[in-house]
Amino acid sequence: MSEIRKHYFLEKYCVIAGERSKRPTDFVKERAPEPGPETCSFCPGNEDLTPAATAVYRYEGKKLVIQKDEDNKRVKDWEVRCFPNLYPALPGHEIIAETPDHEKHPSDFTDDEITLLMQVYSDRTTHHLENNDTQYVSLFRNHGRDAGASLSHPHTQLIPVPFVPPMIMQELTAIEEADRCPYCDIVERESGGERVIIENDYWIVFAPYCSRLPFEMWMLPKKHVSSITAIGDLAPMGKALRDALLKLKTLLNNPTYNYMFFQMDSSSYHLNIRIEPKLSIAAGFEKNTDVFINTMPPEDAARSLREIDAPLKI
Ligand SMILES: [Zn+2]
Ligand SMILES: [Zn+2]
Repeated sequence: MSEIRKHYFLEKYCVIAGERSKRPTDFVKERAPEPGPETCSFCPGNEDLTPAATAVYRYEGKKLVIQKDEDNKRVKDWEVRCFPNLYPALPGHEIIAETPDHEKHPSDFTDDEITLLMQVYSDRTTHHLENNDTQYVSLFRNHGRDAGASLSHPHTQLIPVPFVPPMIMQELTAIEEADRCPYCDIVERESGGERVIIENDYWIVFAPYCSRLPFEMWMLPKKHVSSITAIGDLAPMGKALRDALLKLKTLLNNPTYNYMFFQMDSSSYHLNIRIEPKLSIAAGFEKNTDVFINTMPPEDAARSLREIDAPLKI
């Protein structure tokens, strides 16, 4: 039986199409090979092909050093490199090259590598919010060509937006009108339940009750924080994200996906990260109604992902 489900606290709906449901293997797609490193302007040695870096993270011995490219000279031997997009969508549009390794994605990062990436996310968010013209920092990762990545080198993008997107504003209004934070309620409701994928003292990763997409995952801090910039210890966060991505990669043969950080410089907001694998297409019904038909019940998606043996030590 199909079931109409409502979002936890917004007027949004999805249809869980139970009788059309599939097994995880039905979602596995063959991926076309992506361009090799010889053409890659994000790879080490090709720094001159990009604008001068705004922040370069590198180690001197064991000490982490953060530098910029000064006088048009490029800093080498980096771990993470942030630089302006050559074709910015909006002023300030930045690329975060997550690793010098062309083939290594966050699902395969070590604990130290993923924690460093979280620090870069936090630092760059802070940096862009210091600009008074920035009302919202869009931080997202497109994995694979059909999820919007035009270059295959592992990278995240950050776009400062000079207004608060209406979708975020609507959500913030609903949060502020509620008696208590709806996301804190979600943590309580989902904790220990059948839709949990990863859970530890600080973070919960789960398939949301109203999943619009097959294998959609949300990641929430258990403590109410509005943005990554307010998190003291970034290691548990990085590991939860890494493990969620590794489970997804293992279960579904490295599917393309987007992940997005939803965060605000407002104490009422509750940081959340959403991972959306690209396994289905929004077709006529979705575009006609904004109601999504999902053929993978989140309870089944969560069970399959939970059972995948990925590192869970946090
Ligand atoms: Zn590369
Ligand atoms: Zn909250």
